[in-house]
Amino acid sequence: MDYVYTVKELPRKGETLLVETFIENPGGKGANQAVAAKRLGAEVTMIGAIGKDIVGNKLKENLEKEGINVKNVKKVDFPSGNAMITVDQNGNNTILVYPGANLHIEKEDIDRCEGIIKDNDFIILQLEISIDTVLQAAKLGKKNNKKVILNPAPAKDLPEEIYQYIDYITPNETELTAMTGIEDIELAARELIKKGAKNVVVTLGEEGCYFLGKEELKVPSFKVEAIDTTAAGDSFNAALAIALGEGKEIEEALKFCNAVGAISTTKRGAQTSLPFITEVKNFYK
Ligand code: ADP
Repeated sequence: MDYVYTVKELPRKGETLLVETFIENPGGKGANQAVAAKRLGAEVTMIGAIGKDIVGNKLKENLEKEGINVKNVKKVDFPSGNAMITVDQNGNNTILVYPGANLHIEKEDIDRCEGIIKDNDFIILQLEISIDTVLQAAKLGKKNNKKVILNPAPAKDLPEEIYQYIDYITPNETELTAMTGIEDIELAARELIKKGAKNVVVTLGEEGCYFLGKEELKVPSFKVEAIDTTAAGDSFNAALAIALGEGKEIEEALKFCNAVGAISTTKRGAQTSLPFITEVKNFYK
């Protein structure tokens, strides 16, 4: 759950401030990507963890309302994951993330979910849960011949073993550099291929994206009036699964991802900005 506080100026050490506006927004990369994929037309099952608290219930109900299968969102004895976001009048922010329950979806839970993995075409993973769990999901995805998309966000060190299980790894520029220690996008992407990833998609904000796989492509995004880029990357990842699932060729698939990402920047918020498929079809003919 994201708690967003708007203030004139960010608080200094020891300062107590009155907040101008406050909003509670369901968020989290996994949940955002699940909602985005569902709105774009996929059947989605969420695997994750929430606390046995009111916030946990709200998060689960929110996913249910979107039509996402939440039978494997388990309840644990830790508070639900949350983020406290402070935004000043110039749009600068500070963010505290408390992972809480998110770190208690475990490897063994994934083993129990192998049937679900078998029933789906794509596994989309992010790094707001433990790496061991992500590794196990990628491994079982590969074992069952499913397509594995890893959005390595927020940036963390990955075990070398994981790359061989990944069909598409989708860092933004900052994450790509953090992962490889290389500034140059092309060289850094090559490094991920060398490690075993089959395809690399680097999101480049308003510039669109860069792809390296059997071929190399740079696909520009669409010109829009961007007002809030929160969840642009999340919507892009969901769009990738949808487009590939429909059998689109990679260039066409990435155009679709850029369209979805671009639309999401024209609205405020995380899940509130995620487009439905009809909107994308109208935007992108
Ligand atoms: P993240 O949100 O993970 O940092 P990016 O900022 O790279 O990711 O954005 C993800 C995708 O969203 C981009 O690859 C692009 O398709 C789209 N996008 C983001 N910002 C803009 C923008 N200002 N104009 C058009 N498209 C954008």
